[in-house]
Amino acid sequence: MAFEGLSERMQSIMRKLRGKGKVTEADVKEAMREVRLALLEADVNFRVVRDFVNRVKERVVGQEVMRSLTPGQQVIKVVNEELTQLMGGERSKLNQALRSPTVIMMVGLQGTGKTTSSGKLARYFQKQNRRTLLVAGDVYRPAAIRQLEVLGESLDTPVFSLGDQESPVVIARRGVEKAREEGFDYVIIDTAGRLHIDEEMMGELRKIREQVSPDEILLVVDAMTGQDAVNVAESFNQQLGLTGVVLTKLDGDTRGGAALSVKAVTDCPIKFVGTGEKTDALEPFFPDRMASRILG
Ligand code: GDP
Repeated sequence: MAFEGLSERMQSIMRKLRGKGKVTEADVKEAMREVRLALLEADVNFRVVRDFVNRVKERVVGQEVMRSLTPGQQVIKVVNEELTQLMGGERSKLNQALRSPTVIMMVGLQGTGKTTSSGKLARYFQKQNRRTLLVAGDVYRPAAIRQLEVLGESLDTPVFSLGDQESPVVIARRGVEKAREEGFDYVIIDTAGRLHIDEEMMGELRKIREQVSPDEILLVVDAMTGQDAVNVAESFNQQLGLTGVVLTKLDGDTRGGAALSVKAVTDCPIKFVGTGEKTDALEPFFPDRMASRILG
């Protein structure tokens, strides 16, 4: 289960507060010290942790909370609200094109789950009776095109491909043209990832972006990689301008750092989370539900 350690620790800190009839400033300070350690151990960015703890303290110490009948509960409420804010507050929905198709460009490093997430998104739209064209633009990874074709077949969703000899920029443009001509609701472009961020990859992604003017540029990041995921997101955002993040492998043993700091560091909302290898394992991301899950 994802961030089990963090949840357990947060719940134990909150339990202590809830049990108190009267909460002193010293109690709050002690609780916040523990919260700080728990977040750092969950691999949350240290600046994010510092700001978070300061905000909670500011709202709690010397305020109404301390005089209320259930101060412990009130502190928990503030922590819950601030955690929700940290992860983006309201749920961030996908941008929609005024005229179909809505163009979604999937970007990210290799192995993060880009191709799988492209298929999952097509499945997600299919359940809403929307038609998607998948575009096989990952021409560098052997088998990526075939992987998308197999996914498409299993979902009964068409895949546009020009093989691996054509340039991804041309493939993306022609794919979007086809989707427009044939009245698809969505077109999802699977692009090539590398093991590391490099100039050539970014240059190519920028060219694709210029050609197809996407409504969404979704970065796929692997939750298991913690702070690395956040650094990757920061870098992609600076160079490409992201509209959202898909956080994958949340079903694994992740400590939670990426989920908790990606929005704060990059200001890019997490729009979906991947919770398994199957095509149905994709969920819209709700910051409030995630905060409640962590606090128990
Ligand atoms: P790409 O190189 O970014 O296109 O990555 P793939 O889509 O090929 O995914 C890499 C591996 O991660 C595959 O084995 C996927 O089944 C797996 N994967 C993708 N998303 C998830 C997820 O949310 N949970 C789990 N457990 N595995 C995932």
